[in-house]
Amino acid sequence: MLMKKKLSLGYVKFLVTALGLFLWAGVYGQVPGLVVEQNPAKRVATAPESVFKMFQEAGMAPVNHELTALEVMKIEKAFAALPPLHQKILKGHLHSISFMDNMPNTALTSPVEGPDSTKTFNITFRAGILHETISEWATWKEQTCYEASTTPTYEISIEAGDLDAIVYILLHEATHVLDAVLEITPPVLDQADLVEPTPLTEGVWYKMNVPNEKYIDSLLEKTRFRSGKKVPIESAPEVYKALLKTPFVSLYGMASWSEDFAELATIYHLTKKMNQPFYVLVRKNKLELTRFEPMKNKLIKRRLKQLKFLYREQ
Ligand SMILES: [Zn+2]
Repeated sequence: MLMKKKLSLGYVKFLVTALGLFLWAGVYGQVPGLVVEQNPAKRVATAPESVFKMFQEAGMAPVNHELTALEVMKIEKAFAALPPLHQKILKGHLHSISFMDNMPNTALTSPVEGPDSTKTFNITFRAGILHETISEWATWKEQTCYEASTTPTYEISIEAGDLDAIVYILLHEATHVLDAVLEITPPVLDQADLVEPTPLTEGVWYKMNVPNEKYIDSLLEKTRFRSGKKVPIESAPEVYKALLKTPFVSLYGMASWSEDFAELATIYHLTKKMNQPFYVLVRKNKLELTRFEPMKNKLIKRRLKQLKFLYREQ
């Protein structure tokens, strides 16, 4: 998830090391005598006040989560698994990462105003995801798209391996940071703006959140990340049949071109570089009805050359 609103640096609490040697001062905006933490995985700080406010206004009671030693280890592992360009971009543009309990969504990337013109970002994660596998978290997320009570004999799951969910979620959010810095999808002031496409969006998207006409499907338009509503679970086989006729790797990837890029880069890296599975299973009475495996889709394979730049020598 990506928040486009600007946040004020004044709200951001700074991270101080045990030795008190440095105070976080923006990645490039270094204060003389102060040292910036080089490892982005260690830039843990309380989330910006505006992020707390947003969740409070949504009726939640978010609280900062103090990380355990095991959680810190999982986070460092997830950063180490990122593609080389992601690592480089985060070094220069990650303001801080934050962990919260009682937040409604999984993660949120928001711009933070720095002391100079460098774009910097905070990523806030729901701390609970540190104790889920990718399969568990992705299954939960996919299930939120369906009204299960209509036909309880149907089941939806995502088989995406047993790595920590933070690996997937960090990769997705870090792709938003990379996108915002390198403009892989076109920047827009308003989602209704009609702008020049980039190679990544050309032929796929018409506007930020409107796919090209040939990829607009009446059933897919009713799904949660396009309409905000759930569809009956028995329509799931038809949903994935329709999704296979689009170049989108997931239902969430249809939310906007930035989610499309984040999902494409994440599922590509997970399957092709980390050798993990990724497919949606629809079962009825425990028997497989449909298997949706995006990386086998020709329309997606054609887009993969667009991701090569992520792996060039840095
Ligand atoms: Zn996102």
